[in-house]
Amino acid sequence: MNPIIKFENLSVVYDLGKSNETEALKDINLEIYPQEYIIFFGPSGCGKSTLLYTIAGLEYPTRGRVIVDGKSIKDLSLKELISFHRSAIGMIFQAYYLLPTLNVRDNILLPQLFSNASGREREKKAENLMKRFGIYELRNKKISQLSGGQQQRVAIARALINGAGIILADEPTGNLDSKNAKVLLDLLTDLQEKDKKTIIHVTHNPRDIPRANRVFYIEDGKIIRVVVNTEKPTIESMSKRKVSELERLAQAYPYLTETRLRAKLILNHLLLPFGVDIQQKIEKAIEDYIKGRINKEMLFKFLDSSPEEGGANLYTQRARALTGEIVKLAGEIKIIEEEKYPQLTLPAERAAKIRIYLLDNYKGHISFEQLKRLDDVLAQRVIGRIRKKRLEELLDLPLKKGGVGLNRRTARRFARQAELILMKK
Ligand code: ADP
Ligand code: MG
Repeated sequence: MNPIIKFENLSVVYDLGKSNETEALKDINLEIYPQEYIIFFGPSGCGKSTLLYTIAGLEYPTRGRVIVDGKSIKDLSLKELISFHRSAIGMIFQAYYLLPTLNVRDNILLPQLFSNASGREREKKAENLMKRFGIYELRNKKISQLSGGQQQRVAIARALINGAGIILADEPTGNLDSKNAKVLLDLLTDLQEKDKKTIIHVTHNPRDIPRANRVFYIEDGKIIRVVVNTEKPTIESMSKRKVSELERLAQAYPYLTETRLRAKLILNHLLLPFGVDIQQKIEKAIEDYIKGRINKEMLFKFLDSSPEEGGANLYTQRARALTGEIVKLAGEIKIIEEEKYPQLTLPAERAAKIRIYLLDNYKGHISFEQLKRLDDVLAQRVIGRIRKKRLEELLDLPLKKGGVGLNRRTARRFARQAELILMKK
């Protein structure tokens, strides 16, 4: 499984060397895989548009590289860039907008001006797209006569007419009311699921988030967090899947930090019978414990002591048992050495780390072929392309059938251990 887009230590600096120098993107590494729906989420000015322009080859990396479909964009000649742009990239940009004085049909046909297709073929393509997006009746109207939602659908048709595999959408719902926004999001989802396009969508609106397979949170030119959306069907199966609780929580609380999520997770396991405010207090204490701000003894004291003393007021016996459980669970999550922002490691590197961990405790024989397959399968799990159950199946399936060829028991154990490691994103 090769990434369709890859950023290697990418930085983009505007007005380099001048007094108003702005570092819009700071040393970004990421990989995007074919047919993923990716959202870049962050506030205005964090670098989202710059990121899309860089993928499109409209903005050059100041440092590092962008590789699209195996090609390093900045090494293309102008001619190659134009042809790459025309065939590989479809853009739905607010600023890169439609021509208001042309009609719908001509706007959609515009990118076809330089294609080799016959006039008839082009017309047919445009017609199909207009029918699909419900704008065929409007074909002779000028863009300026359309509503925002209609214009955005024209923009999608135009982005698709050249058959591009990658669709870049910059705040595509930005100017739409919620009803039209939903129509547009449904269209983008269709492009991913039915047309098998790779969708890169940037937004500052949390409403869009459930559409993505993965959400990259950006702040101040940096990716601060990557969350796999487990509510959405996987690309591989688009069917049932098993979801880790941490993934579910990350989805439910997109703004929480990793440690906070882990605290919540542990809490959910242990505290279902307790009231909400005690839960919140304990959650905070677990977070402090995970972060090393308090030790085991202090955790116990907190659980045991009265509300006047700022404690959770549990029975001493319960407090002691709970302390033990929290310490144990927190320890399990810390299976491998803590890293800073481990979730930002590239999928292939994370897969390799998990593989090293798994094989450390494995006594059986494993061939080089199996190792490579193992890395591939783990990488698919890391990016959420497959779920735990499918991981287990693939680990067990013979090499010939696309699996890793381990025995059933090992497959089950590896899958479980991999999930535990993944939980500590
Ligand atoms: P977003 O799309 O998330 O709002 P942008 O990528 O447009 O963010 O901008 C990121 C940063 O780069 C901002 O500080 C912005 O002012 C700056 N910037 C964007 N485009 C240019 C440009 N062409 N020249 C100089 N600075 C720019
Ligand atoms: Mg922008």
